[in-house]
Amino acid sequence: MNVSVVLFTCDLRLHDHPPLRAALDGSRQVVPLFVRDRAVDRAGFAAPNRLAFLADCLRDLDAGLRERGGRLVVRSGDLVEEVCKVAGEADADEVHLAADVSAYAHRREERLRRALEAEGVRLHVHDTVTTAVEPGAVLPTSSDHFAVFTPYFAHWSRRRLRDPLTAPRTVHVPDGVGSEELPSRAGLSGLSPGLAAGGEREGRARFAAWLRSGVEAYEDRHDDLAGDATSRLSPHLHFGTLSPVELVHRSRRVGGPGAEAFVRQVAWRDFNRQVLAARPAAATVDYRAKHDRWRTAPDEVEAWRAGRTGYPVVDAAMRQLLHEGWMHNRGRLLTASFLTKTLYVDWRVGARHFLDLLVDGDMANNQLNWQWMAGTGTDTRPNRVLNPVTQAKRYDLHGEYVRRWVPELADLAAPAVHEPWKLQGLDRAGLDYPEPLVELSEGRERFLRGRSS
Ligand code: FAD
Repeated sequence: MNVSVVLFTCDLRLHDHPPLRAALDGSRQVVPLFVRDRAVDRAGFAAPNRLAFLADCLRDLDAGLRERGGRLVVRSGDLVEEVCKVAGEADADEVHLAADVSAYAHRREERLRRALEAEGVRLHVHDTVTTAVEPGAVLPTSSDHFAVFTPYFAHWSRRRLRDPLTAPRTVHVPDGVGSEELPSRAGLSGLSPGLAAGGEREGRARFAAWLRSGVEAYEDRHDDLAGDATSRLSPHLHFGTLSPVELVHRSRRVGGPGAEAFVRQVAWRDFNRQVLAARPAAATVDYRAKHDRWRTAPDEVEAWRAGRTGYPVVDAAMRQLLHEGWMHNRGRLLTASFLTKTLYVDWRVGARHFLDLLVDGDMANNQLNWQWMAGTGTDTRPNRVLNPVTQAKRYDLHGEYVRRWVPELADLAAPAVHEPWKLQGLDRAGLDYPEPLVELSEGRERFLRGRSS
């Protein structure tokens, strides 16, 4: 066997990369390929924040390959056509690809397999590249997936993970395979000003720092909005600049309650992926139909998007999203509850907005977390409504998070900063901040009525 193509998708790394390892073991030369798939643009999934992060990742991957004597080949167009062209130009007999879970990824894999077979080229699809435990690897007795996290996690935890692979020392790329220029952030508009940097080096450095000085306190502090005490590794997991298998191994080596709680969250990611793999339609259709009669309320949705609902912690979180292209998990939970339950607006409206901005925007994690919060997903208490005032007092005790993101309220102390409508006279008159969009109890009753009707 002479030449293989490794098609990178959401696995933009050199460490612990089973497709790359298999290609290097079996071939004299390897073409590392990334195709900027036009179907992703057409589906509206190519949000500027993710394109910028992706550009960083591709540049870093290319740099890593060059240090090893290789380079990254970048093409754009129809993914299947481009892979076939590259395989033809390189005279390759194999293509290696990481397994993925969305309906789109399944279609892509099938089309690719058929097209390559017609050319006499074999497609190898590798597990445990984008997940620690593959969808379907652990199953309940009577279903094709777990619908409840706790039993899933019990099985997931007992599973023995493969050992992580080292990065290759050398990569030989055949001559004569042309590449487009690498994309860059320059020229991209609509980026969040505080967007994080991408790339494997960045991801590994962040992960190492996290293991040294963040993970230990994770169990106690992960919900502290102002403390910002989570790993912020989600974009690296989404783009695969970090391997979930390696992440779990190294976290377990650190050990302790913080590392255990962190690994549990990573298992949530696998959980959502196994749900989506079994029910690809759940990206757009209620996983458990509740026959909601959602409101449209365009002005209220606009206020929610802009962070002007009059509920400070909701507005703080929505502004963090606009500014960073990322939001704290507690913020995601309470803003999603506010949209779907307090305003009673369709979860798809919120999921779309998140996908337009989130640098970690992910079909499985975003859509299924939205469904979870809307009560149409796997939550076993689907009608719970998060009260943004109670949540704020619990998770932003001193009001620091609100003051950071809502400068209009920067002079207020807690608890007034969480309930500015309670201020009297001049204190209130001087505030350039909206009145609450809706009474919380009114919103809650409307939701419960709508759901049971
Ligand atoms: P940490 O707390 O450090 O957790 C480590 C990793 O575990 C994360 O990077 C993530 O990969 C995984 N993880 C943590 N919490 C969850 C969870 N609840 N569900 C699944 N995986 C989890 N996550 C995304 O990666 N992409 C999304 O598009 C996304 N959309 C969301 C939308 C809503 C409405 C909600 C409620 C949650 C969403 N999440 C999403 C899950 C979670 O909020 C983020 O993964 C987390 O905030 C990322 O920050 P972190 O890396 O610091 O997480």
